[in-house]
Amino acid sequence: MKSAFEVTVFEGDGIGPEIMRPTVEILAALAEAGGYSMRFAVAPAGAAHYAKTGESLPESSMQAARDADAILLSAMGLPSVRYPDGTEISPQIDLRKALTLFAGVRPVRIFPGQRTPLKMPDGREVDFVLIRESTEGLFHTQGKGEVTADEARETLLITREISEKLFEFAFGLARERKAAGRGPGKVTCVDKANVFRAFAYFRSLFDAEAQKHPDVAADHAYVDATALWFVLKPWDFDVLVTENMFGDILSDLGAGLMGGLGVAPSADIGLDNAVFQPCHGSAPDIAGQGKANPLAMILSAAMMLDWLGLRHDTPALQTDGRRLREAVEAVIAKGRFLTADLGGAAGTEEAAQAVAAELDL
Ligand code: ATP
Repeated sequence: MKSAFEVTVFEGDGIGPEIMRPTVEILAALAEAGGYSMRFAVAPAGAAHYAKTGESLPESSMQAARDADAILLSAMGLPSVRYPDGTEISPQIDLRKALTLFAGVRPVRIFPGQRTPLKMPDGREVDFVLIRESTEGLFHTQGKGEVTADEARETLLITREISEKLFEFAFGLARERKAAGRGPGKVTCVDKANVFRAFAYFRSLFDAEAQKHPDVAADHAYVDATALWFVLKPWDFDVLVTENMFGDILSDLGAGLMGGLGVAPSADIGLDNAVFQPCHGSAPDIAGQGKANPLAMILSAAMMLDWLGLRHDTPALQTDGRRLREAVEAVIAKGRFLTADLGGAAGTEEAAQAVAAELDL
């Protein structure tokens, strides 16, 4: 059991620092009350840093990320600051590649009182996790595709090495969720195995991994049908695992079901490191106005506590991860201190304070 944790913090661009500040305050107060120590070290990176120094992710920041127990990241990138080739500054993608963070974890939750475009049957809740492979798939040739006047080519890559790690992670997560009373213990492989040989291969690796986990149910779904079921019966899902591009698209659909990006957390997890960050970007259109929604950032921090607690066998962190998520859900359900994107009038600080109040901090 470990009781002292080092967290590397990337405050990022736009609304990034505004939502990170109250999140770290809540985490520090939870640690103090919970009898464990959590130290936060801010590492410079991002678009504003690039504009100032010509470096988007200094080696010292990369090293700090590598050495930390966990990495907390708000949002990075600004449309107005770009590399000479016109692409945006995204150190979060560099981190994903450098640290081999193959599992993009995107929880989707809809509970009573939450705004959703879905018509939820009475008493139904949605609580599933989409795992997006994040280092290969259709993103393999990202930025290196071949384009001529007459044709364009990109390559889809599925490897045994990454797929096996990904599926092992998915089955482990379904088992943990079942133990925590949050799902039946089922993993669905989302693919297009009826059309592409690469996805038939992906599915065969999934089936082989499923054999090793007889306590967890396994099934398959085609990605097009999955998009339909996200809308018609999302309460049937538990853990879904899929390729990079399919996951990219389905995770935004999931955020839409939850009523928007302001409440969608995420984690990018590898064997040795993990980054926790909201699904949204740096929202430069509302930066500096104190009205950004901090809840996706706070929910990402709750995922970090969960992950650290499980990894280091520290139940206090797992308890605080659950309490923090439930506090955010209570604030959303009560609806008194919501930011404008959720139809309220609260500012960032007020919304974060409402979460702290739910926790008696
Ligand atoms: P990226 O490509 O970097 O992910 P994006 O183009 O998806 O970014 P965002 O920065 O996520 O764009 O912003 C999309 C819209 O959602 C903007 O109108 C922004 O103001 C809004 N938005 C994003 N995050 C929040 C938040 N935390 N609170 C309130 N509004 C937000």
